[in-house]
Amino acid sequence: MSCKAGQRHHPLRIRQPRLSETLPGLGRPPLVFNVALPPPDLSSWLAPPSGMPGVWVFDSGRSGPEMVITAMVHGNEYAGGWALENLRRRGPVLSSGRLTLILANLEAFDRFDAANPVMSRHVDEDLNRLWHNTRLNSREHSSELERARKLQPYIARADLLLDLHSTLWPSEPLFIAPPRQRSAEFACALAGGKELPQTVLTDLGHHGGSRLIEHAHFMSAGGTGRSCLLEAGPHWEPATVTVMESAIARLLVEAETIHLRGQATEESCPPEMAVVTDNIIARNADFSFIRPWEGGVTIPKAGTPLAHDGHDLIYTPYDECLLIMPNLRPRRGQLAVRLARRTAVLFRS
Ligand SMILES: [Zn+2]
Repeated sequence: MSCKAGQRHHPLRIRQPRLSETLPGLGRPPLVFNVALPPPDLSSWLAPPSGMPGVWVFDSGRSGPEMVITAMVHGNEYAGGWALENLRRRGPVLSSGRLTLILANLEAFDRFDAANPVMSRHVDEDLNRLWHNTRLNSREHSSELERARKLQPYIARADLLLDLHSTLWPSEPLFIAPPRQRSAEFACALAGGKELPQTVLTDLGHHGGSRLIEHAHFMSAGGTGRSCLLEAGPHWEPATVTVMESAIARLLVEAETIHLRGQATEESCPPEMAVVTDNIIARNADFSFIRPWEGGVTIPKAGTPLAHDGHDLIYTPYDECLLIMPNLRPRRGQLAVRLARRTAVLFRS
């Protein structure tokens, strides 16, 4: 029996009798990661011609879309640094418009240490949670807020913003679009390209603050700015750079058509859309998955046990449940995994 849209066939969370026999958990896997990709040399980004550290601008001299590609919003996700530095060195080929490349958190990247590679994600706070005007226009100060305020003029002029990210735990690459039709179209147009992730996920934001792709420029009703994020694979794997470079190549070729028509000129394979239904937050410090689930796995049956959280067992609430980027070691209060459902239509216009 298959699930109809919106139906749930099993409770998400069930408290277990204290002494009952429950499934053994995976426990807390050690924080040991293989850094197969060395950090790039980004010295040419420190004082570029734009006058703004981390920002290179390429102008075709012909009118056309404003393209902005951001990477390293998280300082240790330097696969994006490789992708943008490779592009800068080659020199991008633009048929029209202007391209701005931004390495967002060079200060955090400066602190990268291969012996402890998870520590340089940010300096003071997550740069991908503070793009709401209430934070940007506040009197608060942090390394990341200052940087966001400096980058804002480049972001606010984007017709198309592609934000490149990578993942700590194993996960199939995917595109994420904010909940706006115009951005979902953009992500789907990129996802239709060769050797690119087919999944386009949309959600209602991230707990803890607004992401770059949710800046008011991309969220305002009646606006035209489109944004999407690419989770391109594990942080320190050469293959992640390749996925990012394929997405960049597709963007540069298709930008004009996507900007004007909301779709690409050619499609290798149709994108698969999915929408987040549940954010599973770890309520206990001992939260533990039953298996080391990989992101992008689809679990066929409702009621399949996923994780232990204190005395609770967490289950898939519906058939064909898609796991989005499980965090195999969430702290109490942290997002452990998101559940998503495949859908034929992201938004009804
Ligand atoms: Zn990231």
